[in-house]
Order: sequence, then structure tokens, then C-alpha cells
Amino acid sequence: MPAFLDEPLDRADALRADAIVLGGMLARPDARVLPFWRGDPYVAGAGVVPAFAGPEAPQADGLTVFLGLDGAIPVFARALQGSRPPTDQVSALGPGAFRDLRGAVGAMSARDASIVGTARSLLSWHERHGFCARCGSPTTPTLGGWKRGCESCGAEHFPRVDPVVIMRIEHRDALLLGRSAGWPAGMWSCLAGYVEPGETIEAATSREVWEESGVRVREVRYVASQPWPFPSSLMVGVACTAEGTSVCVNAAELEEAAWFDRAACRAMVEGTHPECAIPPPAAIAHHLIGGWVG
Ligand SMILES: [Zn+2]
Repeated sequence: MPAFLDEPLDRADALRADAIVLGGMLARPDARVLPFWRGDPYVAGAGVVPAFAGPEAPQADGLTVFLGLDGAIPVFARALQGSRPPTDQVSALGPGAFRDLRGAVGAMSARDASIVGTARSLLSWHERHGFCARCGSPTTPTLGGWKRGCESCGAEHFPRVDPVVIMRIEHRDALLLGRSAGWPAGMWSCLAGYVEPGETIEAATSREVWEESGVRVREVRYVASQPWPFPSSLMVGVACTAEGTSVCVNAAELEEAAWFDRAACRAMVEGTHPECAIPPPAAIAHHLIGGWVG
């Protein structure tokens, strides 16, 4: 299963508006507070994500967001400040490090990955939205971190989600995959791109494939979606059918695009291809390709 698909917490939307209730939950010894630094979670050992008990979490005045309830246990995330990783402040959690989630997610449990992914996306949004997009005044977090308000002009700002279409492009017994400049040698993946204002998922798919590869597609079918917290994408996985195999790569978008037959795709999914690889199972691209290989 791709990462970030679990929904282990009750998001408890009804509790977000009451700051006194949230403060009381944060002070409970059974509350869990996950420390982050610059968007990176603290990871101990092999993918374990430890948490402080509520009153023991460092930097009590740091930005804290309410993630929800794990059964009856409130779960929070807190962005620790500092120009260097505040590892001394989290030493009580055992040996570990603030780690980039892209690299760490593969070793995490499905539920931890989803909790940490949500927290990363939310905390990253706060880092980038300290000022009102309408009037430029400072904004203040409310609703347990699920909104920022502007006291100057009254604007309300909510955490953003950016839809991205990612497509499995099929033509008979082959798939079209692409490479972006700067990727590791031999790495291939599905084409993808942001949905633009005014577009349907189907229209965005057709446009992106045409822009990047010069291939016309039809029969766009929804397959699955995946939150991708780097920082706030929602990957909308689709399959579509190419009208032909002639490729004209747009060098501004892709370094290369090529057709791979089913045997080659299967080898890439299984990690046995001698030269080529696809993203790991945490990414939806792996499953779009794997689902076609069968
Ligand atoms: Zn404003």
C-alpha cells in the first residue's frame, strides 16, 4: 500500500474551536506530542516515531497543532525552533534524529506515516503562511492549527491542498514513463502535473500528457489518490489510453520519455530490472505501474 493512506486518528473537528478544551487536553499526561524541526519528524531507531507526554514536551510556547484523537488519547505535533536540530531537547525520547520524511517513511508503520504526514503538511503550511495573502498583515493560528486568521482585514486562511494528476499512460502492452532532469540514473516514473484552475481531472491529465510528451490520451479513469505531504499535494492517480506511441518530449518538463513493455515494467516493480527503477512502494506511482503489471 502507498504511504499516507491510513486514517488512524479521529480528527475531532468539533473540538478544534475550543482553545480551553485543547489546552486541557495538551496538559494531560496521556496526551502525545510529536516533535518536529523544520518539517522533519523526530525518528528513533528503525522508523519509530516517539512522542512526549503532553506536559513534558519542550518549547511549550512553540507552534502546536491538534491532529486528533487516537481512541481517547489526544495527539499533537509541535514545531521546535532553533537554527540547529534541537536534539538535546528531545534526548528523553531516546537515540534518534530529525529526519527527512521522504527518506524515513519507508521504515514507518502505516499509521505513524499517516499521522506524521498530516503533521508535516500542516506545520509546513504554517511556516509559509505567517502573513495574510490579502493584506500582508501577520496572521494568527486558530482552530488547533487548522486555520489562520487575519485580525487586520478579517480574512480566514485554511490549510491548502494542491491536486496533482499522476497518470498511467497505456498503449496496448506498454506504458509511457518519463524522467525529470536531476533524477538518479535509471529512475523512471509516471508523468504528473498540477491541476490548474478551471480544469477537471480528465482535462488536466490530457493537457499534462500532451504538454510533456506530445501524446494524445483518452479514456481517463480514476484509480486511487494519495496525500503527499511535500508539502501539500493530493496525488490523484488515473489511468488513460494513448492514441499513438509517437513521443515528442518537452525539454522544459522532462528529460526523457519512453515506452516500456510489460516485462520491463514487471522487472522494475520487482526491482530486478538491470538498468531501470521506479519510485519505491511508498509512492502511488509504484502502485499505478504495479496494478497494470498484475
Ligand atoms: Zn489580512
